[in-house]
Parts: sequence; structure tokens; C-alpha cells
Amino acid sequence: MERRYNFNAGPSALPQDVLNHAQAELLNYQQQGMSIMEFSHRSKEYQKIHDGANELLRELLQIPDDYEVLFLQGGASLQFSMIPMNFLQTGQQGNYFLTGSWSQKALKEAQKLGDTYVGGSSEQDDFKRIPELDTLQYSNKDAYVHLTSNNTIHGTQWKEFPKHNHSPIIADMSSDILSRSLPIDQFGLIYAGAQKNLGPAGVTVVILKKDMLKNIPNQLPTMLDYRTHVDKKSLYNTPPSFAIYMLSLVLEWTKTKGGIKEIEKMNAEKTKLLYDTIDSSKGFYSGTAETASRSSMNVTFNLPGKELEELFLHEAAEEGFVGLKGHRSVGGCRASIYNAVPLESVRALSDFMQTFHHKHNI
Ligand code: PMP
Repeated sequence: MERRYNFNAGPSALPQDVLNHAQAELLNYQQQGMSIMEFSHRSKEYQKIHDGANELLRELLQIPDDYEVLFLQGGASLQFSMIPMNFLQTGQQGNYFLTGSWSQKALKEAQKLGDTYVGGSSEQDDFKRIPELDTLQYSNKDAYVHLTSNNTIHGTQWKEFPKHNHSPIIADMSSDILSRSLPIDQFGLIYAGAQKNLGPAGVTVVILKKDMLKNIPNQLPTMLDYRTHVDKKSLYNTPPSFAIYMLSLVLEWTKTKGGIKEIEKMNAEKTKLLYDTIDSSKGFYSGTAETASRSSMNVTFNLPGKELEELFLHEAAEEGFVGLKGHRSVGGCRASIYNAVPLESVRALSDFMQTFHHKHNI
């Protein structure tokens, strides 16, 4: 069977090697006569996968020893609530930088739980850009600062992060974690749903500095208190064991590709190819994000008019391209080119875009 050119925004393409590996041992994991899904989460076989994924993520992202790595459930969306529950105390404010729909959703949850304000926003520019670092505002009441490192829907990405060190920076990195090297020690907490660069849906990775655990209120529900998951090493209750197994395979694949440095280079090549295709089309394709803020993961663009856009999506689908329709809230087109999307798929898309342009030149 031929695999499609998968540009889905998430869940999204997984490395074919990983899928082959999982398939080969699906029924009989390491000659144990059962699937990894059928093992107890307290078994030594599962424990090895659980610990291995944790160690490999630490190695790949060079996570310092004073940080914890957690595997949680509830998606990035549950983190929107857990963060203010754990870290936003009376008399403090959550400082939110708004750069798109996901940061708005994070803010909305925090507003239900405590006092917040918006210290930076590009909403007035339809989220086409990331605010300049020197325009961001802080207050001495900040419990934390929250930002979304890559805006999956609007196709923008923070290239540099604030170095402000009066309150911890918390980042939703759902759609670009593992795509580039990161100054982890600039953050108090990083979280990411797995279903883009890390694996299948079902597990959420949280990287948190140990000193963040100091002032968590005691009355929180057990499952919503980060300390529970730190104390029990993400095994307080049954973890999503198959998703974590898949995560461990994706991390191993990332390592065999040469780690983050090499992945970053591969991503840069794919990103350049697509944006060059857009920019050399003399306005036939127009990128929706401002150039300096363009995402290396989600390439968003428009065509001249609704009809051409529909035709583009229709013809693309016939050629085996999947997931090119923009998010329903903004329309247009979007190609998500996460780590597992091969350069060949991006080349095929670039060729298709050029052919389509010549055919429908207006
Ligand atoms: N944040 C970002 C940046 C996202 O792209 C998404 C999902 N696409 C979410 C949060 C929500 O993630 P989840 O569905 O895992 O709750």
C-alpha cells in the first residue's frame, strides 16, 4: 500500500520506521507472547519503556537535573487548567501572551480560577505575528508568564523567548517540541500534547522545574496536583502505556536521525522549500504569517479566492495529499510539516503547488 503525503496538524504523520517497528512486535512483544498493550503498567517490561522514554527525552532536549519530566493525560487542554490551579495564588496574576486561539483558550481557563491579565498580544493584527520581546509587559504580581511557542492554527512561532526572570515562564510547546534545541532553563514549565512531534495522541509531556512545586495549595484534587505525578513518577494511576511505548519509539527514531541538531536542519530544509515555493509564486500563494514570525511547523497560506482554494484542495486530495485545509476558524490552507513528515513529501507538495499555479495562472 502506498502511504499518503500526510500534512495533518495533529494527530499527524508518524515516522514509517516507528510504525513498522510497532507492527512487528504488536502481537508478541520481545518474545513474551503478548502485546505491550496487554502488560501490567507495574510490570518490569513496561517500567523499562516508561523510564527509557523519560531518559531519552531528557537526553534529546538536554533537560537539566533540576527538572522533572512527567507523562500525563487530558491533553494540553488539561494543562490550561492545571497550571493556574497549581501556581496561581490569591494576590497574584497569571500573565498571558496572546498569539492565537490556543493561548486564548489557556487564558480562558485561568480566568475561571484566578486573576489574569494580557501582557502582550497580536490579536489586533489577526495573530499574524509574534509580539516583539521588548513590548511585553510584566508586573511584580505575576505568578507566571504563559506563552504558546508555536501557533498551530495561525502558523506563527516564537523564535526567541523572553529572558525575564522575575517569574517562571510557562510554555505550551504542543506543536513544536522536539523540532529545535531549546533553552530549557529559561522555563519553569513546558507542556505538550504528544500528537504532533512526539507520538500518537493520549499522552501529554510536562517538563517542570522542581522549585515550581514549592507553593502548590494542598486542597487540589489528587490527579490535578503536579506533586502526585512527580512523587509517583507518572505512575500514580494507569498511564496510557501504549502511547508512551510509541513515544519511546519516536524518541529512539529521533536519536537515530542524529538528535535535535539534525532534526532541526532537516526541518529548516523543508520549511525553506515550502516558503520559497510560496514567495516565488508572485502572489498566487500568499503566506498568512509575517515573515519574521513564520512557523517552521505549520505553513499557512492563501490562494487568490475561495473557488481556486477549493479546487486546490480538491486536486491535492486526488494526488494523495492529506490535511491541507486550514483550521476551520481561519480557513485558507495549512501544511503541517512536523519532524516525521519526510522531505520527499514536502518536495511533492512544492511540485504540486507549482504545477497547480501554472495550470491556473491568473
Ligand atoms: N496547544 C496547541 C498549540 C495545540 O496545537 C493544541 C492542539 N492542536 C492544543 C494546545 C490542544 O491540545 P490537546 O488536544 O492535546 O488538548
